[in-house]
Amino acid sequence: MTTTQQNLPLCEQAQGFLSREAHHLFIDGQRVPAESGQTLTTANPSTGQVLARLAAGGQADVDRAVLAARRAFEGQWSTWTPYERQGLLTRIAQVLDERFEELAQIEAMDMGAPVSKLRGAKAALMKMLSFFASQATSISGETLMNGIPGNVTTMTLKAPVGVIGGIIPWNGALNSQFWIIGAVLASGCTAVLKPATEASLSVLRVAEILHEAGVPAGVLNVVTGSGREAGHALAAHPNVDRVAFTGSTQTGRSIIEASTVNIKKLQLELGGKSADIVFADADLDKAVPGAAMGVFANSGQICFAGTRVLVQRPIVEEFTERVLAFMDTLRVGHSLDDAANLGPVINQTQLENVLNYIDIGQNEGAELLRGGHRLGGELENGYFVQPTVFGGVTNQMRIAREEIFGPVLSIMPFDDVEEAIAIANDNDYGLGGAVWSQNISTALRVLQGVHTGTMWVNCYGYIDPLVGFNGTKLSGYGSKGTSAHMDTYLYTKSVYIQL
Ligand code: NAD
Repeated sequence: MTTTQQNLPLCEQAQGFLSREAHHLFIDGQRVPAESGQTLTTANPSTGQVLARLAAGGQADVDRAVLAARRAFEGQWSTWTPYERQGLLTRIAQVLDERFEELAQIEAMDMGAPVSKLRGAKAALMKMLSFFASQATSISGETLMNGIPGNVTTMTLKAPVGVIGGIIPWNGALNSQFWIIGAVLASGCTAVLKPATEASLSVLRVAEILHEAGVPAGVLNVVTGSGREAGHALAAHPNVDRVAFTGSTQTGRSIIEASTVNIKKLQLELGGKSADIVFADADLDKAVPGAAMGVFANSGQICFAGTRVLVQRPIVEEFTERVLAFMDTLRVGHSLDDAANLGPVINQTQLENVLNYIDIGQNEGAELLRGGHRLGGELENGYFVQPTVFGGVTNQMRIAREEIFGPVLSIMPFDDVEEAIAIANDNDYGLGGAVWSQNISTALRVLQGVHTGTMWVNCYGYIDPLVGFNGTKLSGYGSKGTSAHMDTYLYTKSVYIQL
């Protein structure tokens, strides 16, 4: 089902922000234009209309922002106690709790996710901030024994790494920026964030709000602009100590190359092609909506989307029928339509990519069971793709091997546990994955056998900072969540004290 009308009026604050003639960079606590004076435009994916004009930051702007971040890192911010940083994070959580609707509306207009879904992400953000507030007072080294003759005391200390370059994708910037911001504020680092052009607005707004909430000037800076210019300048900057990157595997490679200039530390969260494995004994009342939304949520624009749905052969027909029936309950519509479950994809290029993969799937011999087209009527100007299901997909097909990043679910039959594991592992990515079975031995064998950074059993997509989220193979490295995440914002100093 599709809905067309934009039935939610924007709140005054979101409207005020979106009506700015141009959105400047945020450097050293100030809104400033790009030095070149150049701008880029970004569209509302629900309508295709120009939404905002962004500063096209380049090398000179990245230089300014990195300098501001370096000064802040070495200045008064470095004297803040862990309790003060924790207090700041707690204050930020209170402010964002009050301002979340404004941010959700800005993000909905900018990246197209339904506002109702974005509202649902508030709880996750609050958890994240609470986690990072607790981490601010949990940083510790060790006292260590040693074999040195004489009276020598030895220990390790943890210290903040320095200036972080945070490069953010468009598919969920509102929350995902806090994986960086939270760790920066908890650890005492500073940052320059480079959001994706397609979805920079929530990052710019958050920087302003956080500054008002007490984040000192220079601690968080935002440079908008293209990946090729602003992103590359940040990744290659000799005064940036560490890059936290989320995005495509291809860009991840160029970030690794750029990092060699000063041997930057890296955290890379890259693409995925996760297998969601449904056994014949699964509770289909849960597995069907779980597997379907494991693909369709955010219109398929989720790195850990379980796009390869492996279904045990005896239930392929029943599972397929039930997935198609579940799809009848999904409403695709404008991101401000309160009733929409799914919005558009991000832009024309992504729309064409997804439609191209749907053609490829049909040409490869997969059976198109539902969807496959751009939505028309009153949605014709937005970038809407029908949620799509292919049956009879084999793991050799490109639609099973390559990341589509759109609402395309492939049903792939399998016979037994070992075949399911082999199919799941026959892919270059290793991000997410799931197993649905009421047999604990089956579930355990699969979760141990599949080479992937995160596995869910009888559920899909939970992420809690206390538990974390990981990737392996072409999906990158560096934990999100747990103290392992904080460790990547710190370095260890070994200390020898002759008494
Ligand atoms: P992308 O790699 O094109 O862009 C990501 C960011 O990198 C953007 O800010 C972009 O401007 C910047 N960038 C582009 N080229 C750059 C360069 N040469 N140097 C430095 N920065 C550069 O990815 P995208 O299209 O924005 O996002 C989609 C991809 O991100 C998908 O592959 C998806 O799987 C992945 N993703 C992964 C995760 C995860 O946690 N693993 C989360 C979200 C998205």
